[in-house]
Formats: sequence, C-alpha cells, structure tokens
Amino acid sequence: MKNEKSQELFERAQKLIPGGVNSPVRAFKSVGGTPLFITRGEGSRMYDADGNVLIDYIGSWGPHLFGHNPPFIKEALLKALEDGTSFGAPTEIEVKMAELICDLVPSVEMVRMVNSGTEATMSAIRVARGFTGKEKIIKFEGCYHGHGDFFLIKAGSGALTFGVPTSPGVTKGTAADTLLAEFNNIESVKKIISQNKGEIAALILEPIVGNMGTVRADDDFIKELRDLCSEEKIVLIFDEVMTGFRVAAGGAQEILGVKPDMTTFGKIIGGGLPVGAYGGKREIMEMVSPVGPVYQAGTLSGNPLAMNAGYAALSYIKNNPEIYNELESKSARLEDGIKNAVKEAGKNFQLNRVGSMMTLFFTEEPVFDFKTAIKSDTELFGKFFHSMLKRGVYLPPAQFEALFVSTAHSDDEIDATIKAAEESLKEIL
Ligand SMILES: *Cc1c(COP(=O)(O)O)cnc(C)c1O
Repeated sequence: MKNEKSQELFERAQKLIPGGVNSPVRAFKSVGGTPLFITRGEGSRMYDADGNVLIDYIGSWGPHLFGHNPPFIKEALLKALEDGTSFGAPTEIEVKMAELICDLVPSVEMVRMVNSGTEATMSAIRVARGFTGKEKIIKFEGCYHGHGDFFLIKAGSGALTFGVPTSPGVTKGTAADTLLAEFNNIESVKKIISQNKGEIAALILEPIVGNMGTVRADDDFIKELRDLCSEEKIVLIFDEVMTGFRVAAGGAQEILGVKPDMTTFGKIIGGGLPVGAYGGKREIMEMVSPVGPVYQAGTLSGNPLAMNAGYAALSYIKNNPEIYNELESKSARLEDGIKNAVKEAGKNFQLNRVGSMMTLFFTEEPVFDFKTAIKSDTELFGKFFHSMLKRGVYLPPAQFEALFVSTAHSDDEIDATIKAAEESLKEIL
C-alpha cells in the first residue's frame, strides 16, 4: 500500500518524539513497518495521509464504541465549545456525569473525574492505601493498569509487547510493594495473602482482560477473589478502563455478577476526549480530599469539553440499551467468520471474545492467563497484521491487544473483514 507521506512524517517525528509516537504501541515496532499517520475518522473508517481508507478495529484503543466522530458527540462538543473550554470551578455537567455513572454502575456510590485511565488507577490505589492503612498491592501477570510506577511489573499491553517486565525508573522499593499473582489461579492469590498477612491494601485486576489479549476471568475465580478480599479487608479494585461501558452498560462487573469495592474507568467514559474516573463505596471515596485526607487533584479534571463528550456517550448508552445486543451479534458474526477461516486454513488458533472485544491468538492451546497468552507466535501475528492492513483492515498492531467492534461497523464491512482474514491466512501460512 502507498505510504510515502506516512514515511516522511514518521522520519520527522522520530527526530523529536521518542520513537516518533506519543504512546509506544502506535509505533508498529512489534509488527514492523511504518505506522500510518491518520488524517480523519468517520464511523468505522479511518483515512490516512496517503489516501488509504481503512476499516478500523482499534477505535482509538477502546473509546469509540460508536465508531469515529458520531454526530451526537460532535454536536455536544460544538455546543460546549461556545461556552468556553475550562473554568477551574464546578459545573453542572460534572454533577450530571457523576449521577449518570453511579446510575449505570451500581457499585459506584461516589466518583471522582480525572484525565486518563492511568490517573484513575494510580489514584484508586492511593485511596485504598489511605483507607486500609496498608501498603502492599496485588496485581496479576499480564494485566495493564496504565503507566503508574507500581503497575509496571509484568504489565500487559505495550509493556508486554516490548518485553520490559519491570521498567527501569521504577524503584526497588516500589517494585517490592507490588505482589504478582497468576490470572485465573486462586491458589497463587491465597499464597501471596498468607505470606503477607495483614499487609495488603488492594487487589487490582482487569476482570475481563484486554491487555494480554482478551481473557475472561472464570466465574469461580472472580467469586473467590471477592470472598478473599472481604475476609482479609483488602480493597478489591476492578480496572474497567477498557471494559467499562464496553462489554455492558454496567461493565464487566455486570457480566460477572460480582461487585468490587472500587472501579476505575477511562476510554469510553470520555467519548473520545482524555477522561478517566475512579469511584466505589462511599466510605472509601470519602477518604478523598477535600472531604478526607487522601490528596488527589487536577487542573483540567472535569473539563467541560471532556464532560460534555463523555456525558453524550453515556446518555446514549443509557437511552439505547439495545446497542449491546447489536454489538454482540456483529461481533459474533466476525468471530464465526474468522474461526471458519482459521479452520479452513487447517489451524486451531484460539479466538477469545467477550462482547465487542476479541483477540485471535496465534497458538493452538487455550489462552486463559499470561503464560498461555505468550505461547502465541508473534512473528506470525505480525505477518497477519500486515496482510490484513494491505487489504484495508486496521487491527491493533500487536498480538497482546483486543480488537474492538463498534456500532458503526456494518455487516458488509464485517464480511469484507472475514474475506480479508481468509486471504491473509492463506497468504501467510
Ligand atoms: C488503557 C488502560 C489503562 C490506561 O489508561 P490510559 O488512559 O491509557 O492512561 C488502564 N487500565 C486498563 C485496563 C486499560 O485498558
């Protein structure tokens, strides 16, 4: 495919921006080649600087549940723009946003808005530590919670793709406070708890993981985690930055039927603008400044443009609950088609899907945790990625990510994607 303009921009970018990108996975490093520079997005399509048109399954890495630039979010933004971009004082839209979040996600009794998923998870951990008076946290191998120091220990997503198990720059002291358990393995959690009796403030996980590729927590596992945390007075945090409003209006906790003590949000909650949020039980959230002693603040937090975009997205979800059935049937169509293509190619590659997030792992063994995910043939994935791309299908450029179907993807586009997958598998195998 034509990419001269993207190449030229990438060369300029690399001179001044580390790796030419403002977030690592965008650089195509794990699949090779030049990242495409995007000029415009509309519905399920993205347009790049060389005039290529792509069916997009990244959706800005999660936010675009309704595809790119949906008219109702654009309208809300234009209207908000008329009144000014930032006040640093409270506004009505923040109140409406909090009411709507607490309404859609019943475990959230109070909520604080921040500017990214990373801020949300970092803040939630601080509050959990303040609330419990304990310091250690448990996280799971392959789960990604943003780039906060104490999460960069065997993290997923870009950290996994680039093989940086523990990032330089994270102090030994910080790393020592993060205890690593195995996903879907309750014994690994019990062992850590018994070795650190009375010292663990919080346990954080992606209840449906997207960042080692799509992996769902087993029902028993998640229920036992809930019980363990209650018994041991550990704050259970569901990181729903990706799954919140994606897999259901009430997030992964609605699907799994388990209520966490705290929840973090990002991505969809901002309607395409930089937003995050953390919330949970009232008694925990009342630790947050200025009502409590745990400090957390933000100059642009609750920004009117961001709140209006996010509020438009969440009200659409609230008023149109049928979109989740629509997403389910579109995604099932894609899943079935790709599974058939894999079978026709004589392989048994594993496809994991929950609602509109899914991952085709290039391994023939079931994937249910970090160790099974990394059995994937990432080189083969890279070939598949490029083969799809030249057929106009834009997948996440790394094996350990979820692709996202939006309400804007038409059945015809999904069928074209399946055809591209059939051809690509033939080409690369
Ligand atoms: C994307 C993501 C984050 C980080 O959010 P940012 O907005 O990129 O800081 C945290 N947790 C999960 C589960 C995510 O998917």
